[in-house]
Amino acid sequence: MNKYYFEFVLQKLKQDSKDVLLIEENSENTDIILKEIELYFTTNTITFNEVCISSGTHQVRNRDAYQDKVNKCKALVWNEGYGGQCSRSSNSDCNGFCKTHFRKGGHDWWLGTVEQRIERPVDSNGKIHYWIKE
Ligand SMILES: [Zn+2]
Repeated sequence: MNKYYFEFVLQKLKQDSKDVLLIEENSENTDIILKEIELYFTTNTITFNEVCISSGTHQVRNRDAYQDKVNKCKALVWNEGYGGQCSRSSNSDCNGFCKTHFRKGGHDWWLGTVEQRIERPVDSNGKIHYWIKE
């Protein structure tokens, strides 16, 4: 993260802290809260962990080429939150899915299909996922 973005995110974090803490119920303590926030940001080292979305197997791929293809499997893929249609061919015995997605549940596939996306999909570990594109 370059210095510009670091400062930008730092200021945003500081402002968000004020927005959350300076609510009406705390109005008598505004000065103390502002002082504590300043103290926190001047006495602590703030670091941000960058999340790289294009490393190793976690690569975002442009899936426009597979969009709404009737001869392709209709299961959605995660694609690091960007979604997209499965690139495999649909199998005539698999109700519009490829063999893999048919075997993994077909219409009960955890991410849904191009026709019906699951808005808050939950993976096999119970983790709720949020799509990047709403
Ligand atoms: Zn598939």
